[in-house]
Amino acid sequence: MKISQYFLPTLKEDPVEAQIVSHRLLLRAGMIQQSSAGIYSWLPLGLRVLKKIEQIVREEQEAIGAIEVLMPTIQSADLWYESKRYDDYGQEMLRIKDRHERQMLYGPTNEELITDIFRRTVKSYKQVPLNLFHIQWKFRDEIRPRFGVMRGREFLMKDGYTFDLDFESAKKSYDLVYQSYLSTFKRMGLKALAVRADSGAIGGNLSHEFQILAKTGESQIYYDAKIDEVENDIDVLKSLYAATDELHDPDNCLVPAERLKVTRGIEVGHIFYFGTKYSEPMNAFVTNHDGKNVPLEMGSYGIGVSRLVGAIVEASHDDNGIVWPEAVAPFQVGLLNLKVGHVECDTMCNEIYNKLKEMGVDCLYDDSKESPGVKFSRMDLIGLPHQVVIGPKMVKENKLEYKNRATGEKAAMNIEALFKMLSKIK
Ligand code: ATP
Ligand code: MG
Repeated sequence: MKISQYFLPTLKEDPVEAQIVSHRLLLRAGMIQQSSAGIYSWLPLGLRVLKKIEQIVREEQEAIGAIEVLMPTIQSADLWYESKRYDDYGQEMLRIKDRHERQMLYGPTNEELITDIFRRTVKSYKQVPLNLFHIQWKFRDEIRPRFGVMRGREFLMKDGYTFDLDFESAKKSYDLVYQSYLSTFKRMGLKALAVRADSGAIGGNLSHEFQILAKTGESQIYYDAKIDEVENDIDVLKSLYAATDELHDPDNCLVPAERLKVTRGIEVGHIFYFGTKYSEPMNAFVTNHDGKNVPLEMGSYGIGVSRLVGAIVEASHDDNGIVWPEAVAPFQVGLLNLKVGHVECDTMCNEIYNKLKEMGVDCLYDDSKESPGVKFSRMDLIGLPHQVVIGPKMVKENKLEYKNRATGEKAAMNIEALFKMLSKIK
């Protein structure tokens, strides 16, 4: 993509409404634009990141056998009367009436709708376990929308739902999703901490939140320092202490003080086992091996896809702007032509641009008439992982300058060396 033909409305000034760094940088980098309180438009650069995150989430769900569906954003209130949640949900739910005075709502979550889909077709134990997910916009009329896309009113969520015959099987489904969340966040270059989100009493509810550690996070977290040494072994992870301040009881905490870490986190995922809470009132039953009719054991599993865009920036930025992890970067390479119109510079840039296209590497080419200073700071601001700089002096020696955005390391090299290096990136 050439900047001269792109839509990249970056801002020079810090927007006054932004209180935290991710909000400020996403606005300044021309990735999002507020349309009304807590409701955002995704501009081209931001949309590319959102889609990448969405795709990683999708692939990791498919890897554990979850199957994608797409449910509507608008739901009928009838289903919510059946589950008895219509009144309980309160003011966060956006309630709508259609022209026939039917009560509708903009879905804040989809337990009711998925249970309805399930009960209409699934009748036998042979059709479970089943894990269905979708990636769809939600609306919650948050009392205090803030921090940009991190706490919006309209936001993109992956929500998945599992249906199992009994508790043992439901627990297996839960653990599979737990594991998939660890891999999902890891692929995005994030370290996520799974935090117990309730007392976890046997037979009761079971729930974990996935938190990205960041100073600006809304949750206060207490955890056993041993967790930092564990890789992916979920049995060990689950046995170690991690809780938000809502559950943390300093008087009864078994972790020795010197091992207890206190930090802040951003909740990017939430998984929940809730047994027959919806299947019973909504009549989602199947026949078991003995021919008996039993309600399904269910779980629900959310990931804040649009919140992740902000969370990743909170976790990965510096004074000059965003530092996108490779896997979610809007483009892999930023190509800067410091003297557009200079024949050798233009030729070398075009060669690199075309070759990268052939290699399948996404490149944003700054072919604008702006000054070098503007180009450097814009490229740092938008945070592409690899920068390639072509200027009139170096081009004479057939050289270019490469800069790694994350480390700041620079190296002079020729085109062949550049292609060799970039052929290794994903
Ligand atoms: P929170 O405590 O942050 O309000 P929640 O417990 O209400 O979250 P869930 O209902 O479990 O959230 O939703 C699943 C995921 O959706 C959350 O883990 C979070 O990442 C994301 N999410 C929830 N509310 C919002 C919001 N207002 N804006 C953006 N993402 C959100
Ligand atoms: Mg909430």
